Amino acid sequence: MTAYRYIVIVGCGRLGSILANHLSRQGRNVVVVDRDEAAFKNLSAEFSGFQVTGDAAELAVLRRAGIEEADCLLAVTRHDNVNLMVAQVARTVFGVPKVIARVFDPSRQAVYDQFGIETICPTLLSADTFLAVLDQGPPGARAQAARAPEAGS
Ligand code: AMP
Repeated sequence: MTAYRYIVIVGCGRLGSILANHLSRQGRNVVVVDRDEAAFKNLSAEFSGFQVTGDAAELAVLRRAGIEEADCLLAVTRHDNVNLMVAQVARTVFGVPKVIARVFDPSRQAVYDQFGIETICPTLLSADTFLAVLDQGPPGARAQAARAPEAGS
């Protein structure tokens, strides 16, 4: 993985906390921003980064998170609009080199592209996974096939 050393994560819910815990364990400087202080309970006891409480749509809150030093920002709240806005500000106002946003609505990905923001769309990822599992046939079919004695043995 590329050595981003200062990572700001916006949204400390289920996804944000997993990312924060993992990246912190790797020894990176991680700052998590969430407007709801209770969200920080999702962080592990070993998390060694900083927590900033506030609305990430406010420049002052992003500055408190040290966005001017950041080389990476992950916008992972559950709101496409918030993620787009924060990601856009990170790219255009603060020049953060690597910005990735969670976007649920696949039709909005083009808007993000326009601003040089990379996106991850859970809706499309889920669709791909559902279709792949569907292709595997009924549950247990693969295990059964693996257990079946080879022809001629
Ligand atoms: P999840 O429940 O996994 O979708 O987590 C979303 C997290 O993003 C929640 O903890 C919210 O409090 C947080 N969040 C939503 N909007 C904002 C915002 N404007 N600024 C900071 N955190 C936010």
